[in-house]
Amino acid sequence: TIEHADKAGLYLPYEPLYLEHNLEHIHLLSELNIALQDDLLELYVQPILDLKQQKIHAAELLIRWYHPKMGQIAPDDFIPLAEQTGMISQVTEWVLDKTLLLQKQLADAGVYLRLSINISPLDLRNTALISKVIAAVQSASNSTVPLQLELTETAFVDLVKDSEQALKLLERSNICISLDDFGVGQSSLSRLQGLPLRELKIDRDLLCQAVRLNDDTVLRYAVMLGKSLQLYTVIEGVETLKELDFVRRLGADAIQGYLLAKPMPFAMFSQWLIEFELQGFRLN
Ligand code: C2E
Ligand code: MG
Ligand code: MG
Ligand code: MG
Repeated sequence: TIEHADKAGLYLPYEPLYLEHNLEHIHLLSELNIALQDDLLELYVQPILDLKQQKIHAAELLIRWYHPKMGQIAPDDFIPLAEQTGMISQVTEWVLDKTLLLQKQLADAGVYLRLSINISPLDLRNTALISKVIAAVQSASNSTVPLQLELTETAFVDLVKDSEQALKLLERSNICISLDDFGVGQSSLSRLQGLPLRELKIDRDLLCQAVRLNDDTVLRYAVMLGKSLQLYTVIEGVETLKELDFVRRLGADAIQGYLLAKPMPFAMFSQWLIEFELQGFRLN
């Protein structure tokens, strides 16, 4: 019966709101397709600071989409949609191509740091893409900065299913894997073992909670867990000195956040690095 089918989730709720929402999504995806064709996307860069060395050792690349009519569209508003429809592989290919160009520019400028890009677990099933990543890394010279892939589990894809093979291939080719957004959403403890991970990125939510409750038990546990598994631990989203204070007490390896720098266009990044080297980390 309809009632039963409804309970089993076989029918979509027949509400205009839902329909409107879907049309909006379809529109957004077709606009994204245009943006990909016309090269209207941009990659921003956000530095990551190693706390022990007091050095920028890596940078994360974050996609930006400025739509001429709709304005800035946040990745959180279109990446999940792209994942649902499979368009994510085109997005990731675009990001990879751009990143390889930036990697070359950095190497030419004598800047050596790790570049970290976000990929979807779905990308691990895209053998053409995986081969491309591996080929790019193998053809790069010694002076080329290493690549790292950040993975977040999504509501749509389980990280382990089907993807172990690809992760092992990547590992053998010296490509580092980072588990992103640890501690929130889909991420779970069981993911920490059995996958060839190098890095754990602890989500800003855990930091916010520690500051709000003035109790860092959970955050501390997350860092300790990462360290016990010999993972490089990064705390994401450090915005204030007060938050930095919390982080320092925990012994995390690195921080990323507005306190250090907001994500910026690549064209500004070299200058930022020079200024940072000159001034050092002024927040001690
Ligand atoms: P993420 O990979 O966890 O990236 C970190 C997010 O935190 C970025 O948001 C960054 O701008 C933001 N952030 C950095 N420092 C701070 C801070 O101090 N405070 C606060 N409140 N936020 C901070 P963004 O750029 O909006 O990206 C959101 C998410 O979208 C990313 O989370 C990532 O999951 C996804 N994403 C971004 N670019 C790409 C991409 O090229 N490909 C894929 N597949 N996903 C991407
Ligand atoms: Mg990330
Ligand atoms: Mg994250
Ligand atoms: Mg995130």
